[in-house]
Amino acid sequence: MQRRTFLLSTVTAVASSRLAAAAAKELPFRQIHLDFHTSEHIPDIGADFDGAEFAATLKKARVNSINVFAKCHHGWSYYDAKVGRPHPHLKKDLLGEMVKHCRANAIDINYYYSLVWDVDVARRHPEWLWRDRDGKPVGDPLPAWPNLCMNTPYLDLVVRENEEILSKYETDGAWFDILKQPPQGCYCAWCRKDRAELGLAETPAGIRRHNKTVAMRVEKRLNGIVHQRFPNALTFYNSRLVVGVRDELPYYSHIEIESLPTGGWGYSHFQQRVRYMRTLGKDMVGMTGRFHKSWGDFGGIKNQAALDFECTNFLANGAKACVGDQLHPRGRLDAVTYNRIGRTYAKVEALEPWCRGTAAVADIGVVSTAVVASETTQKITPVDQGFTNMLVELHQQFNVLDLDEDLARYKVVIVPDEIPPFPALVEKLDRYVAAGGALIVSHESLLDPATRQFALKQIGVRYQGPAKFEGEYLALKPGAFPGIDEQNYFLYQRGVPVTAEPGTEVLATYAHPYFDRSAERFSSHKQTPPGPVTDEPVITRRGRVTYIANPFFRSYSEDAYGVNKLLIARLIG
Ligand SMILES: [Zn+2]
Repeated sequence: MQRRTFLLSTVTAVASSRLAAAAAKELPFRQIHLDFHTSEHIPDIGADFDGAEFAATLKKARVNSINVFAKCHHGWSYYDAKVGRPHPHLKKDLLGEMVKHCRANAIDINYYYSLVWDVDVARRHPEWLWRDRDGKPVGDPLPAWPNLCMNTPYLDLVVRENEEILSKYETDGAWFDILKQPPQGCYCAWCRKDRAELGLAETPAGIRRHNKTVAMRVEKRLNGIVHQRFPNALTFYNSRLVVGVRDELPYYSHIEIESLPTGGWGYSHFQQRVRYMRTLGKDMVGMTGRFHKSWGDFGGIKNQAALDFECTNFLANGAKACVGDQLHPRGRLDAVTYNRIGRTYAKVEALEPWCRGTAAVADIGVVSTAVVASETTQKITPVDQGFTNMLVELHQQFNVLDLDEDLARYKVVIVPDEIPPFPALVEKLDRYVAAGGALIVSHESLLDPATRQFALKQIGVRYQGPAKFEGEYLALKPGAFPGIDEQNYFLYQRGVPVTAEPGTEVLATYAHPYFDRSAERFSSHKQTPPGPVTDEPVITRRGRVTYIANPFFRSYSEDAYGVNKLLIARLIG
């Protein structure tokens, strides 16, 4: 081996072993996300900050990683910035002091940087705001945050500011917040020109493609400068983690699920989201807040039991815990808050030996309706909420699936309510059923809109057009569902009529009402009572394929009728 070849191979080996070490390092379990969006109308920023006290408070609360602010939504920087604009009343280099004292105390530290929301830049460069088709800025009027388009020269400024931060401070990672473009498309001068040059039409599909292209350009540029300086640094982009994020994951060192149950996300959100995100092969963090309600809730503090539940629920689902807080403008951490977090994090620390290096094992896979319906980072669809609540309450282990997931690893697959018959999905389900997998399909899932028949033959029923009545009843076949009382159950959501093909077993049928309630004909306060039970199927089984002719999962989200859950429990077996 020549000397040059030897040197090169040695360098490669060292580089690969470093990468392997970085990949093997699990994220810290006890994190804080320290918000610091602070108006220029507040004086004495950081006047009471004491680095040693700051680190000691975190240590006492057993915190081992923190995200701290380089630049906030107001657009102010919290360090001695030359490219960025320091908060006009900043009393000290807060970022630098935080980095210094956290590093000295073995607390990991990531810097936070706000992308799309920046009030200061929006005031100075209104031409960089998101624009609608009429050229008007998109978004709520102040005091909500202005939205800057990442496809404008703003991105060059962002890159220069981050280069400055990276040149001054050694952090463990960069945490980029609010990376998004308007779902209906940005019509600023740069976006119009860009779409024309890329040959992307002004259609929903063209807009979606363009928004994705813009976001991935940002991720590529920022990852480039972060990793040029710190090859092993964490990189994370918030506001993007919905079904459909797979192609961006190379830019993410890990996944963080922002989910403040009392702040608008609700308690079902994390349960659904983590069961999707854990199929993507990245280390995960669940993020709640110490707030009674949501971000920026000064003087609102979450009760201990809720904080304990939320953080241990993160662990139970294979994620690390992060608690969001907001630092007072004068720069002192709140003692009551950190006592409370410390009590929760003592429990987390005690559980860590059983949580390291774990992977969730799920028996059931449910296809998410987010493959077609609109989902935001904060809101899950009604159908997803229905199956999530139902299966969590039943203590079933399940994952939430996109169209790329391998079905062979699941004992039961559920295709709920309104999943279209994507040819690739139908083909996968066909193979899955042929290999002996159990399948539950409900309502209009897999119904071909052209033929008005089900695209998967193994379902074994024929669609018979729109339902005859709005308010129908479900009658269980005697003995079909042991342990469930055999009576007529009202179906709170409208289903579809089907007939069973030869060889398909009928487990439950319709009982029609005497008539649907109307101005001309009505009886009592609510739905009309049922007439005789018919032989028209509602629930059928053919081999290991079950079909339910009603939107059972959306109904569970909207009506929370317990019998739906009991029936699904029996059908899962
Ligand atoms: Zn634009």
